[in-house]
Amino acid sequence: MFKDLATLWKLIKIYLKGKTPAIAFGFLTALVFALVGLATPYITKFLIDVIFHGQREDLLLPLLFFCGAVLVVMSFTGIISDYVLVNCFERAKLSMRHDLFTRLQKAPFDFLSVQRSGELNYRVFGDTESIETFFSRLLINIPLDLLFSVIIGAIMIGWHFEMAVFVFFVLSLQVLVITGFRKPLLRYALLRKGQSQSLSGFVVERFRNIQLIRALNTEEAEAANFKKGLGELMRLNVRSFMLGRISELSVTVVNNIWSFGILWYGGTLVLAGEITLGTLMAFLLISGMLYPRIASISGAVLSFQDVRASLHRFLEYYQVPPAILERPGATELRVKEGKVVCENLAFGYTPARPVLRGINATFAPGSITAVVGRSGAGKSTLAKLLVRLYDPAAGRILIDDTDIKQVTLRSLRRSVGYLVQGEFLFSGTIWENICYGVNPPGEEAVVAAAKKAAAYDFIMQLPDGFYTRIGEGGMRLSGGEAQRIALARAFLAGYKIVVLDEPTSFIDPQTESAIHNALLALKRTSTVIVIAHRPSTVKIADKILVLAEGRIVEEGLHEELLAKGGVYAAIYAELGEETRGKERLGEYSA
Ligand code: ATP
Repeated sequence: MFKDLATLWKLIKIYLKGKTPAIAFGFLTALVFALVGLATPYITKFLIDVIFHGQREDLLLPLLFFCGAVLVVMSFTGIISDYVLVNCFERAKLSMRHDLFTRLQKAPFDFLSVQRSGELNYRVFGDTESIETFFSRLLINIPLDLLFSVIIGAIMIGWHFEMAVFVFFVLSLQVLVITGFRKPLLRYALLRKGQSQSLSGFVVERFRNIQLIRALNTEEAEAANFKKGLGELMRLNVRSFMLGRISELSVTVVNNIWSFGILWYGGTLVLAGEITLGTLMAFLLISGMLYPRIASISGAVLSFQDVRASLHRFLEYYQVPPAILERPGATELRVKEGKVVCENLAFGYTPARPVLRGINATFAPGSITAVVGRSGAGKSTLAKLLVRLYDPAAGRILIDDTDIKQVTLRSLRRSVGYLVQGEFLFSGTIWENICYGVNPPGEEAVVAAAKKAAAYDFIMQLPDGFYTRIGEGGMRLSGGEAQRIALARAFLAGYKIVVLDEPTSFIDPQTESAIHNALLALKRTSTVIVIAHRPSTVKIADKILVLAEGRIVEEGLHEELLAKGGVYAAIYAELGEETRGKERLGEYSA
């Protein structure tokens, strides 16, 4: 527990750095607000004992003005302290979420891919929320509540000792009732949240795979599963609602016991002449002020267990080491020619299963190099090593004789563009997608890039041209269209080296030739490396590298390799004339 408190303290020091004066100011104004609020029982006492009892009508108006002044001071201090403190703590929450997001973007893919859907979301939003709430409890609420309870206790003891003891006794009874109900209420809240999350995950996943569900005729089974989940949620809702009501009722009963108790016990003291009627009323009011303070302290103590869980989850993500580390003193990569050399590259996603075993290859500037091989040969893996999405276990990659591990990641990825296979577009307009990661894009440059990528004509035929929305909530682009948008991005960014992982989806011959023309235009300014899945692509390549069993087994031009009658020829031969150009090259084994 102390370890967790120390960790929380460390986080407070990080995220509330430089905020001490603002927090101190917020705390002081909150204290003034609370102290001024204490005037109410005194005003009541004064009204009954002095004005009513002493028949001092002349004091009525000054008292009214005093009440007005109290209200004004309370409103001001209340609003100021809320504004200052909310700003500080919300800013801390913002920084925590931003930090977590930034760190997670650098986390290893293996780590990210095993996270359940919704989990990332919950940790970035939910856990930071509960940690931030506890920050303010620890720094403001708990000290303020403690201080205030002591002040009220002292005032009550000053008024009448036995009566004060009586009030404390009834209050502790009330706190006991609240805390007794809190645990089961919390348990139900968690169960409800878990069930709701799992049901919403269920809905998202089912509709994502709706085609499969229809094709397999499982709509009814899925609806039954959903109903079962909903039934469980309903049962939890009813139980939790009833428990909440019973807890409220119990608190009301104890509340009444408390007020009647004070009235009864205080009444006997008033009748015996031990205290005045004003004191009794003041007691009633001030003890009403004490209760929320004590409940708040006990609430904070009880919630610590949940905060600890949130803290552990937060730290698990917060401390995940970045997948790729930049060397201290890394320099800026300045590509002159764009020659890429792989020397003895070895890599495996797990040490037990090597994917690449000793790749030696040169990618010449101003040329297109196609990397081919059967499915799973490691082509995409090689592409990922080139932009340091992973680091090789052995060997190195040189760009213009500089090891890419020696340069900053930012400069590397500014020079080497990786156009990923599959979904490489984001929800947004086509314009936004072309300009993604490129700034500031000039309008003419974007249009020119789209033209070079042979994307301009099809874009102009879309309903809103460059401003057509794609992805979620927009229209779907075909594989060939998406690829040309990505190519336009490459032209616009002016990468010196472009690694294109060709999509596996079907592309008609006309689109294919448009893409090839774009690639031929691209090679004038860049080193182009294509992870080729289509037989036609290899024909425009200046060099073909054949990857098998983690090694480059053949290298040359299309005709040369065919004539050689080796692995490449075997892959190519297995493609029937009629399917050639439509099927994936990689699907045919060597
Ligand atoms: P394809 O033509 O089907 O895209 P590829 O030649 O590009 O195949 P890679 O995607 O590089 O092949 O995969 C090479 C091997 O590494 C495969 O056996 C694959 O299962 C494995 N692999 C790929 N990604 C991962 C990963 N993230 N974790 C573990 N293994 C992986």
